[in-house]
Amino acid sequence: MLPYGRQSIDDSDVAAVVEALGSDWLTTGPRVAEFEALLADVAGAPCVTVTNGTTALHAAYAATGVTSGDEVVTTPMTFVATASGAAMLGAKVVFADVEQDSANIDPAAVEAAVTSRTKVIAAVDYAGVPADYDRLRKIADSAGSYLLGDAAHSIGSSYRGRPVGTLADLTTFSFFPTKNFTTAEGGAIASTRPELVTRLREFRTVGLVRDRAKMRYPDEGAWHQEVHEFGLNYRLPDVLCALGSSQLRRLGAFKARRQQLVARYDALLDDVPGLRLPVHGEGVDAMRHLYPVRILDGRRREVFERMRADGILVQVNYVPVYWHPVFEDLGYRRGLCPNAEAFYAEQLSLPLFADLTDSDQDRVVEALRGILRS
Ligand SMILES: *Cc1c(COP(=O)(O)O)cnc(C)c1O
Repeated sequence: MLPYGRQSIDDSDVAAVVEALGSDWLTTGPRVAEFEALLADVAGAPCVTVTNGTTALHAAYAATGVTSGDEVVTTPMTFVATASGAAMLGAKVVFADVEQDSANIDPAAVEAAVTSRTKVIAAVDYAGVPADYDRLRKIADSAGSYLLGDAAHSIGSSYRGRPVGTLADLTTFSFFPTKNFTTAEGGAIASTRPELVTRLREFRTVGLVRDRAKMRYPDEGAWHQEVHEFGLNYRLPDVLCALGSSQLRRLGAFKARRQQLVARYDALLDDVPGLRLPVHGEGVDAMRHLYPVRILDGRRREVFERMRADGILVQVNYVPVYWHPVFEDLGYRRGLCPNAEAFYAEQLSLPLFADLTDSDQDRVVEALRGILRS
C-alpha cells in the first residue's frame, strides 16, 4: 500500500522522544520552548504550539476576538477546520471562490465579499503554494480585518522571499503525520503581532494569567494565577515537542526531496493525456504538501477507484467546505463557488512524501498512465 502522504521517522527522531520520556517533564518543560524557538526561526515570527492544526485555527480565531455578528471570509477549498473554528465562535462564514489554476482564494472574490463586519480574512496555502498575500494584505488593511493564513500545507515555503509565518497577522500550522513534518498530533500559530502572541499563550493555557503586572489581585500570594477570559488546555506536550525539534532539523532535507519528487512528477506526467498538472505560482518557493493533478473528461472517480484497487492510496482534497451537512443546514447551497466545485470535481492527490522512492513514484506514474490511456 502506497499512501498519499506519510511521516518520515529516523533514529534521531526516536532518540529525541526516548530522551524526553526519561526526563523530568512529560507535558510542559524545556522542550516546548526549544521547539517554539526553532519553529520561529523557520516561520520568521514568534510561535505558540498547540495540540493540532484544528485547535491552532480555533485559538487563532479566538485571539482575534471574533464573535457572533462578525464575518470571516475564507476559501471553500480546504479542510473543514479552517471554517469551523470561526463558526464555533459564532462568526458567520462567508466563502469566497478560488482561482481556477492554483485553487487558492481569489483576492478579487475576497474584495467582493468583505463588509464592515469582516473581522478576519482567512487564506489557505493550498497544496503548499502560498496564497496571494500582497493583494490580501491590502484588502484586509482597507477593511480593518485581520489576515489569517492556514499554512497547514505550506510550512517551509516562501512567497516573494518571505517565509510563510510572516505573511499574515496569524499563521496556523499542522504537524499531522501526512504534513510537511510531524509531531504525531500537533500544531502551532505564528504571529507577527506581540499582543496576539500573548492572547494565544493565555488561550492555550486555559486563559490563565500568570504575569503579576496584569493581575487584578497581584498581592494574593505567590501561588496565585487568575483567569480574565475563558481558554482551553491546548498545550502540546514536551515529548511531542522533542519530536518536533528533531523533525525541524530535517526540514531542509524534506523540502529538497519533496521538490525533487515534484520535478519528477512534472517531467514524467507531462505527456499523459487527460491530465492537468498543478501550477507552481509566481515568486513562490514551495514546500509542497500535495501534488494535486486534475483528471479530465469526468474520469476522476474511476481513476481514484482503480488506483486504490492497485494499492495506490490517492486522495481527494477537498470536498468544498460548504457541502458538509453542517453548513448545508445553515443554508449554504451548492453552486456558491463554481471554481472550487469545478476544481473538486477533477482533483486527485498523488502520493508525495519525503520517503517516497523513485521506483514507487514510477509505479504511480505507470498506473496513472495505464488507466488514462485505456
Ligand atoms: C490538516 C489541516 C488542518 C487541520 O490540522 P489537524 O492537525 O489535522 O487538526 C487544517 N487546515 C488544513 C488546510 C489542513 O490541511
